[in-house]
Amino acid sequence: METVVVLTGAGISAESGCNTFRDNNGLWRNHRVEEVASPYAWQHTPQLVMDFYNERRKKLFTAQPNAGHYALVKLELKYRVAIITQNVDDLHERAGSSHVLHLHGELKKARSTVDPTLIYELNRWELKLGDLCEKGSQLRPHIVWFGEPVPMIEQAIETAKQADYFMVIGTSMVVYPAASLIHYIKKGIPTYYVDPNATSKAGNPLHIIKEKAGVGVPRLVEQMLNQ
Ligand code: NAD
Repeated sequence: METVVVLTGAGISAESGCNTFRDNNGLWRNHRVEEVASPYAWQHTPQLVMDFYNERRKKLFTAQPNAGHYALVKLELKYRVAIITQNVDDLHERAGSSHVLHLHGELKKARSTVDPTLIYELNRWELKLGDLCEKGSQLRPHIVWFGEPVPMIEQAIETAKQADYFMVIGTSMVVYPAASLIHYIKKGIPTYYVDPNATSKAGNPLHIIKEKAGVGVPRLVEQMLNQ
């Protein structure tokens, strides 16, 4: 069975009602998102950081996967599909995808601030200052913030190397190291980039599909299932 490796970003979840970071000019309550999603903000304004993620988590509990997520599940009829997502939502899993690697963490999880191996599922939207791990330390969102190492990148690189087809969906390809994954794929394999603002920045040879994920991904998947 051939392997399709798919790198997804915030754009694939936009039609599910989850904002991308570039929406509202990259601002949230007049703060630059990159500044809120950072260790510095957690140190100096932890309530602000909690509010930011609580707001997103609350939305996620009511959001539903869209046609783009579901099309990637259908692709498993013919291919081994490995998804590498920069998204912190769980919409790929809820749609039914079998292999999902989260590069930047997961919104519905919290982790200890003294022991990173202590990770907890959140079955509620609100995480509060004062919520503690079993060792008595504050819980933080289980998110890779800007400026933090990306522990899953090695595994993602190994996955990218196995691709017979590579797809990039709904990402601006400006956040590293995720954007560098394109450099690890085998030379000359078919590569597709579905994004209304796609440019040839993502590498080549490249088939650019300037469509929203909900339209472009189902179409591409039908084409791949029928070839
Ligand atoms: P980004 O905000 O930098 O880029 C989003 C991309 O999506 C843009 O290129 C835009 O053209 C495209 N887009 C917008 N609507 C689309 C649609 N309907 N279909 C297809 N593409 C569409 O996001 P990014 O590149 O993923 O990276 C920024 C960071 O944002 C990541 O680290 C990620 O963790 C985080 N993020 C995650 C979520 C989520 O989990 N849903 C949401 C916002 C941001």
